[in-house]
Amino acid sequence: MSDWISLAASQSYPAGTLYVVATPIGNVADLSLRALHVLGLADAVACEDTRITGQLLSRVGLQRPLMAVHEHNEREAAVRIAERLAAGERIAYVSDAGTPGISDPGARLVEAVRAAGHPVVPLPGPSAAVAALSVAGDLLEAGAGRFTFAGFLPPKPKARAEVIARLAALDHAWVCYEAPHRIADTLAALAAGLPAERRLLVGRELTKLFEEIAVLPVAQAPAWLAADPNRGKGEFVLVVEGAGSAIVDGLPDAEAQRVLSLLLAELPAKRAAKLAAAITGADTGALYRLALAQRAGDADD
Ligand code: SAM
Repeated sequence: MSDWISLAASQSYPAGTLYVVATPIGNVADLSLRALHVLGLADAVACEDTRITGQLLSRVGLQRPLMAVHEHNEREAAVRIAERLAAGERIAYVSDAGTPGISDPGARLVEAVRAAGHPVVPLPGPSAAVAALSVAGDLLEAGAGRFTFAGFLPPKPKARAEVIARLAALDHAWVCYEAPHRIADTLAALAAGLPAERRLLVGRELTKLFEEIAVLPVAQAPAWLAADPNRGKGEFVLVVEGAGSAIVDGLPDAEAQRVLSLLLAELPAKRAAKLAAAITGADTGALYRLALAQRAGDADD
């Protein structure tokens, strides 16, 4: 074991650097050797919640000074961290679980520290989205390995249905996160907004004791959830199959796509598709699906 740790220690970890460290999404043994080493080396560990990070550190036998960095103090905390980096300290930043910045805070701190001229180094590790994608098989492969990360879907039904309609038009898989108190509503909304046979991967409690991974047609997802009351508990990541060949087969020709893009810059998707069809003779439905896919892509930017 000590040999493995010395492997991590053999790399140099310059002082005056912010280390952005991914932490486990459930199973503490997923903390990487480098993460363990750098957390031990850090002069302070900046974190979302000092209680949660304190527990993680004590489980791996570390005790480090903790600094809370959250939504309400991020700006001041970034200034303090930049000062400490300027004084030659090493600071680690962790979120509550998984990779910082992925549906988690961290981006603003990274930006502020880099703007102040200090290096920012990632220590990669667990992320629920990537874990789910790694076992998505055909759902991912059908879109040539491409995927869209959708984060959390909007909680309000109308906004959620609109986002699902846009994502539904993507030719590749998409991933989203969901909390236990919203999973039933979200699965119902997916069943209502997607073709019944579209496949869905539900990853529940990944890496934990009650880990469950189900791949099923989206129409069956609400019944799957209701079949066992325990299924409504825990943390969820969802991978939704892309529209795949359904959209690629009916793709309008290059001229129709060019006209559509021009119109989309000025008009809502439906209107742009209708006009582009009238101008070019291409199929309105195919243009509309393409318009929605393009808008979904824009939303990712
Ligand atoms: N930064 C984290 C990451 O890299 O995965 C995500 C943080 S986000 C605030 C928390 C959400 O991630 C949860 O609500 C859930 O949707 C998903 N998640 C986190 N841990 C998970 C797990 N063990 N199994 C399934 N989903 C998980």
